Amino acid sequence: MEAPSREEIEELLRADLWELGRRAYEVRRRLHGDVATFIPNMVLNYTNVCVIGCSFCAFYRPPRHPEAYAYSVEEAVKRVLAVDAKYGIRQVLIQGGVNPEIGIEYFEELFRAIKAKAPHIAIHALSPLEVDYLARRERATYREVLERLKAAGMESMPGGGGEILVDEVRRMIAPRKIDSDTWLRIMEEAHKVGIPSSATMMYGHVETLGDIAEHIYKIAQLQAKTGGFMAFIAWNFEPGASELGRKIPYPKTSATLLRMIAVARIAFDGLIPHIQAGWLTAGPETAQLALYFGADDFGGTLYEERVLDWVRAEAPIDRKTDVIEVIRSAGFKPAERDNLYRIVEYY
Ligand code: SF4
Repeated sequence: MEAPSREEIEELLRADLWELGRRAYEVRRRLHGDVATFIPNMVLNYTNVCVIGCSFCAFYRPPRHPEAYAYSVEEAVKRVLAVDAKYGIRQVLIQGGVNPEIGIEYFEELFRAIKAKAPHIAIHALSPLEVDYLARRERATYREVLERLKAAGMESMPGGGGEILVDEVRRMIAPRKIDSDTWLRIMEEAHKVGIPSSATMMYGHVETLGDIAEHIYKIAQLQAKTGGFMAFIAWNFEPGASELGRKIPYPKTSATLLRMIAVARIAFDGLIPHIQAGWLTAGPETAQLALYFGADDFGGTLYEERVLDWVRAEAPIDRKTDVIEVIRSAGFKPAERDNLYRIVEYY
């Protein structure tokens, strides 16, 4: 299937919301019927130390800050095993800040230790930003870093740090982060070495509709080339306690999220199979509506989420049964999936 043009995407972004929802729902029904998937997973935020310092981030702490932390491999593995023993998980999402004290050996050791003790847990880890940092630290190519991580057990990449893939926007909200081309190049390398990933988008700050169209266009172009994106995940910028939040104190509403999800479903038809409902930042009710606006995946149960603890007062849904009930009460058939979006059980 051909990727849509920027103009077509921008036209969709300006369309009537209900009409968009109707079209997106049709595509969703054709591809996924009334099934809505989820995965029992956890987030392991291995460190909050970060030298990048994005203005929208309330999670990071500079090195040597009193609240800075970094788990040892033993501590990290202990946490994963404890959550697995309590809830039974299929995936661990491993992400953190760019911590100059942590090299590639840490990840190799961590991934190997998790796979040795709990081979049923898939490792969904790192972002292009962390891969870029490791490549610089190791004086290695992106491919070499990705191959080493894959050999140690990394199965897929969550794709954080995409924000908006327009350099003018990135310079305003995260000037020290990798540029758009680097993000895309690392994703391309990951797909080529057999690490599929998610594509993400964080909007609702300084970007224009044209920038959002550009972002979706670039992802669609890469997907047409590699086919390595399994899912697309969009979320509103949450001001929280971040520096950018002081300038943009009000987040976009749920209606904007529904619009983004519907546009993504239509624009990525035939390209990216799964669109996430984003319940974590938008809340379960909006995620239920998102299922009618094109989303087919409810995301994870996300036991132990620390990045978002800093921006969201409400407690996340923390049990599989709750997720199943939220999906069911929205009128969809809940299905548990694995890391590669293969359905393993219907409820
Ligand atoms: S978003 Fe990531 S890279 Fe940016 S400051 Fe936070 S932890 Fe660091």
